[in-house]
Amino acid sequence: MEKQTIERKVVILGSGPAGLTAAIYSSRAQLAPLVIDGPQPGGQLTITTDVENYPGFSEGIMGPALMDEFRRQAERFGTEFLNIWITEVDLSVRPFTLFAKESEDSEAVSRVIKADTLIVSTGASAKWLGVPGEAPVPEGFGGNGVSACATCDGFFFKDVPIVVVGGGDTAMEEALFLTRFASRVTIVHRRDEFRASKIMQERVLSHEKINVLWNTEVREICGTKENGVESVRLFNNSTNEETDFETRGVFVAIGHKPNTDLFRGKLEMDAVGYILTEGKTMRTNIAGVFACGDAQDSYYRQAVTAAGTGCMAAIDAERFLVEYESEAAAGSPAAV
Ligand code: NDP
Repeated sequence: MEKQTIERKVVILGSGPAGLTAAIYSSRAQLAPLVIDGPQPGGQLTITTDVENYPGFSEGIMGPALMDEFRRQAERFGTEFLNIWITEVDLSVRPFTLFAKESEDSEAVSRVIKADTLIVSTGASAKWLGVPGEAPVPEGFGGNGVSACATCDGFFFKDVPIVVVGGGDTAMEEALFLTRFASRVTIVHRRDEFRASKIMQERVLSHEKINVLWNTEVREICGTKENGVESVRLFNNSTNEETDFETRGVFVAIGHKPNTDLFRGKLEMDAVGYILTEGKTMRTNIAGVFACGDAQDSYYRQAVTAAGTGCMAAIDAERFLVEYESEAAAGSPAAV
């Protein structure tokens, strides 16, 4: 198959709040950015419900609706979107090269993208417990009773008991959402206090359909092929007791890991895989490559902070291009 080559001044990998804000800024700067959507166009907010803390929406807004707004705003200024699968990146020389397939299942690389600057906004994905029974069907009950997305799968658990694992804001949000369907929601948390914000804790702890098992860990998810999940094996780490607890669904809400595997060994990262940036900027260790959002921020991880760092990455890229072009005109292009 003939490979199509695309050349752009700014290529943005990922289309969550960080990537789309970078797109809004760089398209308004007339840089005609290309956004490569990634496997979850719109990012993690597309699988949440009410967003109450994004400034500008006094009554809150649904996550997918917020991301639609971001996208339309980026499109309005000429951002182009491509829904393709990046298999490999070469950052050793500028312009950088990205190799892409049409989808994850496609066999051959069909497009080559040349980028003068690259903004990495690949976000983060849900973490899993790693216990027996959690893996996707057919090995375990993933997709048949085990999920990491209440908004996606809650509907399938009408009038049955459900377990939510975790003690952060995600777990609180998932538990509250699941009360719409479940007969009872039990939060299983490994410590004796939540990490979640006070307001979310209060909502959870005062909800009549939710109860909490403190100091408790899920050791195994049990069930049958026919019925899906039937129970979880729990371990109380203060009494060392193991018990079986009846449930038809397990929602794992224990945090996220950055989607940065594509850049391992190429960009400097911390031990977990968050891309490191220089000082106040979004510059990575490679000149012309910038990182923002949950791929880079292990600390705040909010939609609004992701959008903020997306803006910063776009401004950094724009300044880099101006500098590069003026050096090129003077005959000494910036070295990679
Ligand atoms: P967090 O890292 O905040 O919380 C993860 C939770 O899972 C912790 O309670 C942690 O326990 C527990 N956990 C982690 N690993 C395991 C494990 N292997 N087994 C059992 N439990 C485990 O992640 P969240 O996804 O909840 O939140 C991430 C960020 O996003 C936060 O900044 C949060 O405020 C924000 N957020 C905000 C929302 C909102 O404002 N509406 C909604 C959702 C998220 P422990 O506490 O013991 O470490």
